[in-house]
Amino acid sequence: MIKSTEVKTHERTELIDITGSVASAVKSSGVKEGTAFVFVPHTTAAVTINENADPDVKRDILMEMNKVIPFDGGYSHAEGNSAAHIKSSLFGAGLTAIISGGKLLLGTWQSIYFCEFDGPRSRRFYVKIQAD
Ligand code: ZN
Repeated sequence: MIKSTEVKTHERTELIDITGSVASAVKSSGVKEGTAFVFVPHTTAAVTINENADPDVKRDILMEMNKVIPFDGGYSHAEGNSAAHIKSSLFGAGLTAIISGGKLLLGTWQSIYFCEFDGPRSRRFYVKIQAD
């Protein structure tokens, strides 16, 4: 099964915790052992896993990414959002999580984040659940 979920982003760059949505896709699939593939069908967004305890981690990731890959970096791409394209490729459009005992097998401090790099926009991500 594939679950499609809309995400409304509010900032130019933003990390949005989508773990609950992915977990609910796992639950409704009824799959006990398998994998959940999360895919973002955008060239200026991405998906990643990182810490959910201290919100400063999200802030620091975005701050450093915007420092290393500045919005105005003398790029050629006429649309003016090359920084977002570069960040999207660095983070990646998809990730796989393990399903064990009917639940996502994530570390205590791990969450799955939708990464907005060219917002605010209406976005989407897909979750594909596969049984072993
Ligand atoms: Zn572009």
